[in-house]
Amino acid sequence: MGRAFVYVILGGGVAAGYAALEFTRKGVSPGELCIISEEPVAPYERPALSKGFLLPESPARLPSFHTCVGANEERLTPKWYKEHGIELVLGTRVKSVDVRRKKLLTATGETISYKILLIATGARALKLEEFGVDGSEAENVCYLRDLADANGLVNVMQSCSSGNAVVIGGGYIGMECAASLAINKINVTLVFPEVHCMARLFTPKIANYYEEYYQAKGVKFVKGTVLTSFEFDSSGKVMAVNLRDGSQLPADLVVVGIGIRPNTSLFEGQLTLEKGGIKVNGKMQTSNDSVYAVGDVAAFPVKLFGETRRLEHVDSARKSAKHAVAAIMEPKKSGEFDYLPFFYSRVFGLSWQFYGDNVGEAVHFGDYLSGTFGAYWISKGHLVGSFLEGGTKEEYEAIAKATSLKPPVEDLAELGQLGLNFALTISKKPQPALPIEVSHSTSGLVLEKPMYAWYAAAGVVLAASIAGFAYWYGRRRRRW
Ligand code: FAD
Repeated sequence: MGRAFVYVILGGGVAAGYAALEFTRKGVSPGELCIISEEPVAPYERPALSKGFLLPESPARLPSFHTCVGANEERLTPKWYKEHGIELVLGTRVKSVDVRRKKLLTATGETISYKILLIATGARALKLEEFGVDGSEAENVCYLRDLADANGLVNVMQSCSSGNAVVIGGGYIGMECAASLAINKINVTLVFPEVHCMARLFTPKIANYYEEYYQAKGVKFVKGTVLTSFEFDSSGKVMAVNLRDGSQLPADLVVVGIGIRPNTSLFEGQLTLEKGGIKVNGKMQTSNDSVYAVGDVAAFPVKLFGETRRLEHVDSARKSAKHAVAAIMEPKKSGEFDYLPFFYSRVFGLSWQFYGDNVGEAVHFGDYLSGTFGAYWISKGHLVGSFLEGGTKEEYEAIAKATSLKPPVEDLAELGQLGLNFALTISKKPQPALPIEVSHSTSGLVLEKPMYAWYAAAGVVLAASIAGFAYWYGRRRRRW
């Protein structure tokens, strides 16, 4: 016995929520769409779990952060799904999928068939055991991937106020959790093997700013080493962590953020995989015509870089989901997914955004003391990535636009001096029909003209800024 739907979304996270909204906008009929999720709640904005959810005062709680509030869209509560005739099958794990027969089998023994399947299974947190360390089951060792993890973390956090927390991993989860724990007045030590935090994205200079900021908030850093084992008390709770460098840290709470692994196992041997995820084309369609994949689990062609990437970020989950639904519902109208990689983080009072790719040479700019600074990445003579901390809306939009245009850059020192003005100028200019794949075929002439135009414009802005500064300085001196 089982049910049949035209469209089934497998997974009930960020991508599923945004896909559901798009399905309704594209005219899905009541009864046609079903979402199956292992989680017991309707799709929600996962990034809230390491931010608002962990605040000591007025913490975010469902239903306030159901998708799609993160993109200033409608908030899709369980009632919304009901009103739109979308079947939510929650708290239900899918055990197997037969893509040839277009059927799924749930852990409750139900068979659900579909015409079109949208895979949105996301990823799972890597466990310490996968690195040869036992002890993840201890009640005060926490991971943070879903709501159940977040509730567990909050419980442990509340039971060890003013205690010691050891955060394992200096990436996104580690950095955001460390900040939240410090805000909760817990003594935090962050342990990671790299030489600085956020090693996959930050340059040493950028990382140094955040590390100093964290240290000023009381967070300690232990770098260049890893956790090797735990010390337990008689009740099985972790009391301390042992590190490879021979040191031991007392711990009332351990948070582990050591990476994720995409949930592809249901499809191994059935669909083509790449970069650890499910390979899709520019319409988010897998190697099987009736199956699409989106979000963290999908490896898709990033046009801007001319290669397949798998991204683990919320904006990519939202936009890939929207694109897949458009491709499913309006195949003739929808083109190839043209996505500019974007991610962000907010910790303490800080907030940064990154666009593009952090390859090539990094050029820093801005004022670290004022808190507005950033970096551009230049590869093969072109801007390919931009990072900005403490920017305004307009400035973030400018670095996004500039990065998407991949303008040529010759003089890195000048770029550093122009700083944000470079992106602001380029983003405001009417755009010539630029060959976007410039990094792969740099045929001189086409590039020369826009390059000079941009430099001329950027030069004008620099000159104007200098003149403005001179005028302001003169006036200040007169006032003195
Ligand atoms: P998910 O949101 O992970 O959803 C996957 C869903 O599939 C889950 O509901 C899962 O239970 C379900 N599922 C999986 N397998 C099965 C199965 N067999 N049967 C049934 N259901 C299944 N990104 C940023 O850009 N900025 C941030 O600040 C940021 N903060 C984050 C903070 C935290 C704590 C976390 C965990 C992630 C954060 N991210 C952030 C990443 C972002 O949340 C993810 O990129 C995004 O959630 C991916 O969406 P998704 O729908 O692909 O997967």
